[in-house]
Amino acid sequence: MDNTNKIVLVTGASRGIGKAIALKFAQSGYRVFGTATSEQGAQKISNYLAQFEAHGEGLTLDIKQGNCLESLVKNLQTNHGDIAVLVNNAGITRDSLLLRLSYEDWDEVIQTNLTGIFRLCKLVSRSMIKARHGKIINITSVVGHTGNPGQANYAASKAGVMSFSKSLAKEVGMRGITVNCVAPGFIKTDMTDTLSDGLKNSVLNQIPAGRFGSPDDVAKAVFFLASEDASYITGSTIHVNGGMFME
Ligand code: NAP
Repeated sequence: MDNTNKIVLVTGASRGIGKAIALKFAQSGYRVFGTATSEQGAQKISNYLAQFEAHGEGLTLDIKQGNCLESLVKNLQTNHGDIAVLVNNAGITRDSLLLRLSYEDWDEVIQTNLTGIFRLCKLVSRSMIKARHGKIINITSVVGHTGNPGQANYAASKAGVMSFSKSLAKEVGMRGITVNCVAPGFIKTDMTDTLSDGLKNSVLNQIPAGRFGSPDDVAKAVFFLASEDASYITGSTIHVNGGMFME
């Protein structure tokens, strides 16, 4: 299938998993638009996309800001066309045990990881419904299935995204739109780099594959869900975790 100039929007594409996803689509001829929270991050995205013929560009976005989201989607649709694939990847952690977890850290994680996805799906699905075609892939986490001490806010946000995705999949299935999740386990990125060696080793002991995942491991699953080979898959989650959690 010719994917040239099909538009993909990947949030949080400046580094880590989002960057690997953006590169994977760009390598296959899609026109990729990736977001970062700063101008500098957006420029970095434009730079790595410039090597591809159907290149898109980096854009700035704070997913917590509703008006920022609206203008981003409007700008894309007016200047480039409708979004065929939406990958909601941007996410943050603000870890703390419940008794010390502040309302601010609760809110920031829920606003970024859950409310942002609700807003973006609402904005993008309108044109997908009209086109009777679209792929939405939301990045959740193994922690949304297992829970994790110190991550009540993060785990709740990711479990919320999964249930949100199932509900949306039921709403838009008849319109040719699929909505799925990819739930990474422990992937080597800036997000996990800050964890102590002791914690990393204890997690590694729980991974049957015997290694941490790479951003590319996740990108491959996302790419599959966006392909026509996955057209009969919706409301599902693909776990990319080396076996550390099995459903
Ligand atoms: P990362 O390296 O920390 O990158 C996070 C990305 O999100 C960056 O591009 C960042 O942009 C963007 N971002 C942060 N706050 C944002 C905001 N308010 N608005 C818009 N964008 C924002 O993270 P990662 O490890 O690649 O994780 C990517 C996704 O996978 C997240 O949803 C995460 O929860 C999920 N995940 C990761 C792991 C793992 O082991 N790494 C495991 C399970 C799930 P800037 O560069 O501008 O800050």
